[in-house]
Amino acid sequence: MDLDDTPQQAAYRSQVRSWLEQHASEAPALEGPEAITDEQELIAARRAWQGKLAEGGLAGVTWPKEFGGQGLGPIEQVICNQEIGRARVPGILDAIGVGMLGPTIIAHGTDEQKARYLGPMLHADEVWCQLFSEPAAGSDLAAVQSRARQQDDGSWRLSGQKVWTTNAQFAAFGLLLARTDPDVPKHKGLTMFIVPIDAPGVTVRGLRQISGEAEFNEVFFDDVPLAAEAVVGGVGNGWATALTTLMFERVTIGLGSEGLGYNSSRFARAIARVEDARRDPEVRRELGEVASELIAVRFTGYRTLTALQRGQIPGPEAGLAKVTIVSSAIKAGDLIADVLGPDALAQDSEWAYMISFLPGLKSAGGTEEILRNTIGERVLGLPPAPRLDKGVPFSELRSKEGAPV
Ligand SMILES: Cc1cc2nc3c(=O)[nH]c(=O)nc-3n(C[C@H](O)[C@H](O)[C@H](O)COP(=O)(O)OP(=O)(O)OC[C@H]3O[C@@H](n4cnc5c(N)ncnc54)[C@H](O)[C@@H]3O)c2cc1C
Repeated sequence: MDLDDTPQQAAYRSQVRSWLEQHASEAPALEGPEAITDEQELIAARRAWQGKLAEGGLAGVTWPKEFGGQGLGPIEQVICNQEIGRARVPGILDAIGVGMLGPTIIAHGTDEQKARYLGPMLHADEVWCQLFSEPAAGSDLAAVQSRARQQDDGSWRLSGQKVWTTNAQFAAFGLLLARTDPDVPKHKGLTMFIVPIDAPGVTVRGLRQISGEAEFNEVFFDDVPLAAEAVVGGVGNGWATALTTLMFERVTIGLGSEGLGYNSSRFARAIARVEDARRDPEVRRELGEVASELIAVRFTGYRTLTALQRGQIPGPEAGLAKVTIVSSAIKAGDLIADVLGPDALAQDSEWAYMISFLPGLKSAGGTEEILRNTIGERVLGLPPAPRLDKGVPFSELRSKEGAPV
């Protein structure tokens, strides 16, 4: 997104650029001969780098100053992402914590929670994970079955399973959505908790992906004790608290795509290096299609940014940016793979990770079908999909296997 910087934004851009010029050599290498291949070493290096970015004011750009942020707007966040992309250094490691979970704690947490957790999160002294999805609760997130039962002394006991939990293998804490009252309709009986990953009864099991990494995990909870103070946003208010996280998730993915390098000039440069492809009308047509979709997203992104900068919450149309960026980048990846052949997937190829990772991004942060449903219903005014669970207590719904949930 080329922003037409105001003088203040131009000043901010050059401030970020000069910090990066000074410190880029301290960043861990993710690609090339210097790339760190040992997973533990890489995580340690990326945590240290996030600490440096935080000290330089390049992490938590939109967080209020009182919590260690810069108190700036989303446009400055995009400028910062663009400059990090331009400097070809990694961004923050804990994008989930800083981009989504920290803002949820800022919006719904107690003063004690904010004082305890936000600083270490920003500096990556403690990394966080999002414990929302379950085997039978992904798109239908309000169907979570992990169960927290309150004890006589006000503390809680948690049992259940989460899945797809990015970063749980090195996280210190997770923000977890659990059912606390099964006798009310499903959206109403939920509560959000802060869960220490080293608590007794928590088991983390890694899942390896086609890209070679093991970013995801299954996380099991077996009668895990949680203090009364672990509740975020109030008992029974978990759905509203989760919606805040999901709103920040959509915005983080949409605004972060620049930093990930999903832009048409980069795709065009890769293709133009191959003489035959450069002249091929079909390749040119497909590239033109991707470029025009990404340009359309850029202008839709400006609308989202303007709404955010004015303190408004972006509407459901913001989901279109995520759908379009991901599907266009997948088309671009396919085209690059067609043009470069197997070299596109070679270990040292700059495209291998993007090509193998992007299909997963179709599901993360809301699947394409769900976002299209939302856009159909709430933007285009099409009739809503029938809902059989409206107003029915969760305990009376049947699970997929037919057993009571
Ligand atoms: C890269 C990645 C990172 C992730 N990280 C995390 C994380 O850190 N923490 C976390 O909690 N979760 C995480 N997730 C999980 C993610 O939130 C879920 O994958 C997502 O919500 C979809 O849920 P599901 O995979 O269970 O698919 P399902 O909900 O089972 O859907 C399966 C298919 O059915 C379609 N479908 C479902 N319902 C409808 C409907 N009503 N109408 C039309 N089509 C429908 C879906 O679009 C999809 O194609 C991650 C996922 C990915 C891929």
